[in-house]
Amino acid sequence: MQKIPVAILGATGIVGQRFIQLLQNHPWFEISFLCASAQSAGKTYRDACNWVLEGDPPAEVLDQIVQPLIPDLPAGLVFSALPSRVAHEVEPQFAQAGYVVSSNASAYRQDPDVPMIIPEVNGDHIKMVEWQAAKRGWKGLIVTSPNCTTTCVVMPLKTLDQAFTITNVIATSIQAVSGAGYPGSPFIDMSDNLIPYIRGEEEKIESESLLLLGQLSGKERIPANFKISAQSNRGPIQHGHTVCLSVAFENKPSPEAAIELLRNYRGPEIVWSLPSAPPRPIIVRDEPDRPQPRRDRDTQNGMVATVGRVRACPVFDLKMVSVTHNAIRGAAGGSIMNAELLVAGGYLS
Ligand code: NAP
Repeated sequence: MQKIPVAILGATGIVGQRFIQLLQNHPWFEISFLCASAQSAGKTYRDACNWVLEGDPPAEVLDQIVQPLIPDLPAGLVFSALPSRVAHEVEPQFAQAGYVVSSNASAYRQDPDVPMIIPEVNGDHIKMVEWQAAKRGWKGLIVTSPNCTTTCVVMPLKTLDQAFTITNVIATSIQAVSGAGYPGSPFIDMSDNLIPYIRGEEEKIESESLLLLGQLSGKERIPANFKISAQSNRGPIQHGHTVCLSVAFENKPSPEAAIELLRNYRGPEIVWSLPSAPPRPIIVRDEPDRPQPRRDRDTQNGMVATVGRVRACPVFDLKMVSVTHNAIRGAAGGSIMNAELLVAGGYLS
């Protein structure tokens, strides 16, 4: 298979850097263009980017010239890691010009004809791109991945909802500083401290969780109808979001039954052979002090949710803790897998 040339919009940021890292040696996609703001455009990537990941940027991108966000690049697929306000303006320009846009930004996640996808959770929502084409008349399309904390919440809930029907969820997060992008929160605010507020985050977790666990009916995405309440905190952690979940069900499962389901969950068959798909999207840890972001965020290349402390809850039915890598499964890795799903579904060739 000839590789699909891709452009990364926002290539100098936290998520953009992860795209570069994860697309090294990808079997279907190859990086052709790196794009960023007007301040970076025209510079080499080496000069434009403050690389914050381990090691150095891959040699092949160092001397690439960063491009402005103009949809005239010979690439078929565009990964967007742009701030939402910029994505709102730019992503439709690329879609209209014929590009397939796989976005991390929140700009279009709530639009009724734009799929927001975690392939193992709601891969079937990919067919919303057909409604999008009919409605917008674009030659290309936009598909989005959810907020990074929503991903951490929803990955373990899917199979439990299917089997036992969720009625209520309380989700309390401790989120990594890299979730805020570069340079993020000042060290003096984050050291020895916790900030109990992240603007817009709780609303995103609550509304996006219901959309991801909802169903398609005709040409409508019907949200799930359980109640969910989220509280978001920023903690002194570099990468990896943690969410403590309490969940009530119509049919209360034992902790053992829930653990068994979580361990065996694989998602729909179409995702099993996607290049970025982990063998199992949920890893369950039995130790009383796991998961931990530093120790568990990179499990299976950062593409899984690691779940632990699954136990009875005296108020709801079950409690558990979920950890995901915010910039991999919760951002760049999730978007790459969405693009792989588009290929597998015949929407991108
Ligand atoms: P970031 O570190 O602040 O990076 C932003 C990127 O966008 C940089 O490449 C920047 O280029 C570019 N940019 C900024 N303003 C621009 C403009 N006016 N025109 C063109 N390019 C512009 O942010 P991030 O954390 O990578 O987040 C990127 C997106 O992913 C956001 O929508 C965010 O909400 C979402 N997201 C982030 C995470 C995470 O863990 N960080 C997780 C899920 C989703 P310059 O370097 O040239 O300024």
